[in-house]
Amino acid sequence: MDYLNKSLFEIKELLESGKISSVELTKMCLEQIKHTQNINALISVCEDFALKTAKRVDEDRKNGKKLGALAGIPIVIKDNINLKGTKTTCASKFLENFVSPYTATCAQKLIDADAVIIGKANMDEFAMGSSNENSAFGAALNPKNTMCVPGGSSGGSAASVSAYQCFGALGTDTGGSIREPASFCGVVGLKPTYGRVSRYGVVAFASSLDQVGTLTRSVKDSAIMLEVISGQDKNDMTSSAEKVPNFSNIKSDIKGLKIGIAKEFFNENLNEEVKKSLDDAISFYKKNGAELVDISLPSLDKALAVYYIISSAEAASNLARFDGVRYGVRAQKFSDINDLYFKSRSQGFGGEVKRRIMLGNYVLSSGYFDAFYRKAKKAQKVLKQEFSAAFSKCDVIISPTTANVAFKIGEKSSDPLSMYLTDIFTVPINIVGVPAMSIPCGKNKDGLPIGMQLIAKQWNEEMLFRFGEIFEKNHKEAKNV
Ligand code: GLN
Repeated sequence: MDYLNKSLFEIKELLESGKISSVELTKMCLEQIKHTQNINALISVCEDFALKTAKRVDEDRKNGKKLGALAGIPIVIKDNINLKGTKTTCASKFLENFVSPYTATCAQKLIDADAVIIGKANMDEFAMGSSNENSAFGAALNPKNTMCVPGGSSGGSAASVSAYQCFGALGTDTGGSIREPASFCGVVGLKPTYGRVSRYGVVAFASSLDQVGTLTRSVKDSAIMLEVISGQDKNDMTSSAEKVPNFSNIKSDIKGLKIGIAKEFFNENLNEEVKKSLDDAISFYKKNGAELVDISLPSLDKALAVYYIISSAEAASNLARFDGVRYGVRAQKFSDINDLYFKSRSQGFGGEVKRRIMLGNYVLSSGYFDAFYRKAKKAQKVLKQEFSAAFSKCDVIISPTTANVAFKIGEKSSDPLSMYLTDIFTVPINIVGVPAMSIPCGKNKDGLPIGMQLIAKQWNEEMLFRFGEIFEKNHKEAKNV
């Protein structure tokens, strides 16, 4: 464990100083993956690819070649991110045997930074879910308590980082899929500003909300990874030309900065222990010179409904391409083309994905479009205005990531609404498009991690790192890994 429990930043220094080689480290991670196989965090392990990369990096290092920011470091990517020559299943039966013909930009950027991609993480099918139970390859388990879910949809990525299988992972976040599992597994989860990271080669769920981000064991690790994967990409017209700052150079001072507190985030449904941890975090910031300001987000409680309308509408369109003709599952027996579509989709998709497609087509259908989709888009505008007004008064907003800690496997799987409610504090952030990070801020009496969410203005991830790191440095006990 001497090496495996290091943060990405620490292991980077050990690799650079020659204390350990990348091949040795990669082998340790592969061993750890075997030891912790029970948590089912990975759908595939890229053993040969990882060892080959590690060997090449070690040789380049020996020869004095200039190496990238993640040189020799084992990293996991979520299984909805294409990596040429590997299976990209999206945890769906539909894509069980689909091999990527090309590599996503974010994965290519990891490769260009000399990272060692070691595996592809379990997830909820097509990133729809909050518990990882909607995976065609079985649920992933929470390493902190294997009776509990790791969260979702990037549950495998969070579990893998939390179980020391790798030093960082990529996930995707459409409504909370990085932050919620990060909070449940006691790791740091960052959803960057929409447009910060290219979505090219990432299987789309809801294109206007999807964003690639990181799961790591420290705030600085997250900054290092974000710096690598950010930037404009000609293959994704929604990726932004916004300058990529030197994120890993984190300012440590928060004196005079303002933290916004919205009562709407602290409603009566908040678990007592979660509330206590958040109160303590707020006092900590105050003691360290931050100023607390009250802000108001009156439409926050509409965000969940808005999210399920917009995301399902986009999902219904995006998933139309899975028709049994072009990708994945194709029904064996069919009478005509419509029957082929019908049977292939019936066989290939799991229950939750079907529910979203039906919901999405319903809200887009004539007669309902104005009542649901158009109305949701209007409410999205209102939410954006409310956040923008709030950010004129503060530098970051603080909230719980989830109202409760990780729940038991099976507890919510037959009740979609209560599953959807898990994301009540995370979905507004995607609706508005701003960056947010979940960091561990305590544990409950059973030792399960509690996460807090820091939210910043568009393109202001730096502020998240700043507030995140000072807290982390002073709360070693809150760290769960
Ligand atoms: N849990 C939410 C959903 O099921 C969010 C998923 C995500 O962010 N990909 O839609």
